[in-house]
Amino acid sequence: MTPAIYLAKGREKSLLRRHPWIFSRGIHKVDGEPQLGETVDVFSHDGRWLAKAAYSPKSQIRARVWSFDKEAIDTAFFIRRIEQAQRLRDELIERDGLTGYRLIAAESDGLPGITIDKYQDYLVCQLLSAGAEFNKPALVEALLHCFPNANIYERSDVAVRKKEGLEETVGVLHGEEPPASVVIEENGVKISVDIVGGHKTGFYLDQRDSRAQSMKYVEGKEVLNCFSYTGGFGLYALKGGAKRVINADVSQHALDTAKYNAELNEFDISKKRAVFLNADVFKLLREYRDQGTKFDVVVMDPPKFAESKAQLNGACRGYKDINMLAMQILKPGGTLLTYSCSGLMDQVLFQKVIADAAVDSGRSVKFVERFEQAADHPIDTAYPEGFYLKGFACKVF
Ligand code: SAH
Repeated sequence: MTPAIYLAKGREKSLLRRHPWIFSRGIHKVDGEPQLGETVDVFSHDGRWLAKAAYSPKSQIRARVWSFDKEAIDTAFFIRRIEQAQRLRDELIERDGLTGYRLIAAESDGLPGITIDKYQDYLVCQLLSAGAEFNKPALVEALLHCFPNANIYERSDVAVRKKEGLEETVGVLHGEEPPASVVIEENGVKISVDIVGGHKTGFYLDQRDSRAQSMKYVEGKEVLNCFSYTGGFGLYALKGGAKRVINADVSQHALDTAKYNAELNEFDISKKRAVFLNADVFKLLREYRDQGTKFDVVVMDPPKFAESKAQLNGACRGYKDINMLAMQILKPGGTLLTYSCSGLMDQVLFQKVIADAAVDSGRSVKFVERFEQAADHPIDTAYPEGFYLKGFACKVF
């Protein structure tokens, strides 16, 4: 018999709205002895069947819903979910000529804890939940059914796995070990992705639209691309006719790839038109400010500052600080392109932080455009947490 969990009285409300998380405090009792990640039936306090979920005995999020229908969680289930996710993206892939895209965006695609990015024939999986780990063989089988020629690689080297009682793990799940460089193309820009050695699954696909939008601000301009990673915004700036681009990052490997990417696209980077600077952005911005070095455009796309609610205040201070400095080194009429990928900081709060930065910078700042994660990172209406990436274009006077 399938093990089951019974919710505490009145705790089924979020599930009835199809939010997929069940917190430990919302559980009345557990029937049977579900193993780490095993599928359980979920019932309300009065015995009404609600969902199939993956049990995670070590996590505060004690179970994550696979399905609100009475269906088996097996290879066929994963095939249906993957096919649906692919269908959702077909239009976008066709329209933008994508060879790299997010195939599965976890909860937002009905597969909690499972992120899969596709770079050419390489599928890169990040499995963050006990249920994802438990069902790994079925998932791999389903992926091969949908993409028979795919090589499947796991990049589950993420600390949050600990909360689920899982070790970090990386390696080939099927096919070949990815080469050091898999080249994808987005908006006519070629990008080399290092699946094994890069950050996360190798590339930040979520900023694709914002990178494209950034091009209209850069022609003939001096651009500072902070937290450049493998070039991203800097490559689009070169394509958009920027006079000069400084890419700053603390990862030399990322900067080397950024330079390689500029060459791959045959952008003219002679006469220091593109610079790849190994620097801590926090220090660099202060140096530029103190020296009086000014830019026309500053791109500010830092890593996630807030991993938990407890870190949110500190994160706000961090975002305010770097954005204040960015404003101070912009020429009058210059453009700040600023982003936050911290899901805990919503768009309204981020706007406030930028407003605070404007006050502290002593500059007059206008929001002129808003940005969000690209469409292959959809947001399920039942899971607003899926909206994590937001940004603004600001004119700074
Ligand atoms: N804008 C990029 C993605 C940025 S990811 C794109 O479009 O692809 C964040 C980057 O910040 C990572 O490359 C990381 O190495 C870098 N980073 C983190 N802390 C940093 C710091 N203090 N100074 C400079 N770079 C930093």
